Amino acid sequence: MADSQLGGGQQVLYLPEGSSRLLGRDAQRTNIAVARAVAHAIKTTLGPKGMDKMLVSEMGDITITNDGATILEEMNAEHPVAKIMVDIAKTQDKEVGDGTTSVVIMAGELLNGAGDLIEQGIHPTTIIKGYKIAADKASDILQEKSHDVKVEDDATLQKIAMVSMGSKNVGDDATKAHLCKLVIKAIKQVMGKDASGKVIIDHEFIKLEKKPGKSIADTDFIQGVLIDKEIAHPGMPKSMKDARIALLDVALEIEKTETEAKIEITSPEQMQAFLQQEENMLKNMVEKIKKSRATVVITQKGIDDVAQHYLAKAGIIAVRRVKKSDMEKLSRATGGKIITSLDDLNEGDLGAAGLVEERKISGEQMVFVEKCKDPKSVTIFIKGGTQQVIDEAERSIRDVIGAVSSAIETGWYVLGGGAIEIDVATGLRAYANEIGGREQLAIQKFADAVEVIPKTLAESAGMDAIDVLVQLRNKHRTKDGSVYGVNIFKNELGNMNSLGVYEPLKVKKQAISSASEAAEIILRIDDMISSRGRAPAGGPPGMGGMGGHGHEME
Ligand code: ADP
Ligand code: MG
Repeated sequence: MADSQLGGGQQVLYLPEGSSRLLGRDAQRTNIAVARAVAHAIKTTLGPKGMDKMLVSEMGDITITNDGATILEEMNAEHPVAKIMVDIAKTQDKEVGDGTTSVVIMAGELLNGAGDLIEQGIHPTTIIKGYKIAADKASDILQEKSHDVKVEDDATLQKIAMVSMGSKNVGDDATKAHLCKLVIKAIKQVMGKDASGKVIIDHEFIKLEKKPGKSIADTDFIQGVLIDKEIAHPGMPKSMKDARIALLDVALEIEKTETEAKIEITSPEQMQAFLQQEENMLKNMVEKIKKSRATVVITQKGIDDVAQHYLAKAGIIAVRRVKKSDMEKLSRATGGKIITSLDDLNEGDLGAAGLVEERKISGEQMVFVEKCKDPKSVTIFIKGGTQQVIDEAERSIRDVIGAVSSAIETGWYVLGGGAIEIDVATGLRAYANEIGGREQLAIQKFADAVEVIPKTLAESAGMDAIDVLVQLRNKHRTKDGSVYGVNIFKNELGNMNSLGVYEPLKVKKQAISSASEAAEIILRIDDMISSRGRAPAGGPPGMGGMGGHGHEME
């Protein structure tokens, strides 16, 4: 029933050639079709039985992924409504890091329902009003049906992590369990509290570094920062235990303009003196570093060959041209201060690491700053057979970081496998009857739309979706029936509590509220004007900041 009117394929993403303006019903119909097409495109990837998509860029680069946000990003949707759909996936990704496929599928279904109501003569304004009421009520129901999770409860966090990773193709269960453990460890290590005592987890400080080679199971946790650089000079030590680290935002070089402007060289002696002077200046810089008792220097800027030579002679390891973002991570990991003038450098500013070592990984040198004591920045070092494999592993790990952080930050989880969605739908239908009026119809459609999740999960397992929905609704009306969802692996209804299919409340809340907001924005449009004479490109007016914000996926 959901897709009967949909032709599928991407042609619906564009307005017909030559049409420069769509009004009223026509605009709404087109926009709804576009939104549904986008949702349709990623529907089959939902859940553990979901399929992967292979995306080939114009340059011929291949991405194989199950990640909704990534697929949409790569689709390069041109229609403004398609862009709105892509944006909600991005927002979901940014806000909670998981649930990107669900949010888009739900938005598609909400618009589908709205389309039916519009055909029945119900005005979009009424639908929007009803959807808003439903979204608020859904949020209450979600909260009611939540269970709490404490940060010490590793077993529950592990289940949440495993469900988030469950739908991704990154190896067997043992490998996934290993990755999930690393993520939980990393989150707990970098976690902090703000002034009001609220838990803050800054994902920035869980560095994901990756290199092809070995297998995903060899993915490692590094108690510190891994830098994709080599030690500056072959004469320096390759390894330093109990390192004292100077973090610099200073070039150990002589800036050319400083000297050239002032000195006019007229004789070989003068040249000699000049070079000597330069050397002395560099030597002087190294002396300052030695005086601080640093055994490792890491700088964001360059290091002159002469300075490298003196550092090597002093037995100091140096790494240069390190990214600013890595410097910040190093500072959080080692407790060192980033120094902007060598004159300010003293022993108290140095960071500490149990080991700084250069190692060769798949033919490339990397510097490990590890074994830090209580680092506030850590690294997960992803390995895997091919670039595609490690790329998907990285995306999956990002989802898990998002899911576990969301669970810790708010302290609540719900039952997945469609169970929570059936509860929400059941609650909404009961509520719709209380509300009455025309909005009631919209609330009912909202309930149907939320059920697209269990429905799609059932479809992905090859079950009869309608049958499953009817059975689930019946179960959920019984006492303690809330635990039932789709047991994808056994093709039957299952107890999501005993199966451990746990998902963070925050992910579900965000998905439902974003989906309904997107539906609202799209339903409000009843006039599409193109300034190019073809498909509108920049997005219709009044889209309130949903327009393209770069291509970055964090
Ligand atoms: P999203 O991008 O929306 O997170 P996923 O592909 O990760 O999409 O699928 C998430 C859906 O799969 C959720 O509804 C979740 O409850 C469901 N799911 C995950 N693991 C299981 C499982 N073991 N059994 C049943 N459903 C599951
Ligand atoms: Mg997911």
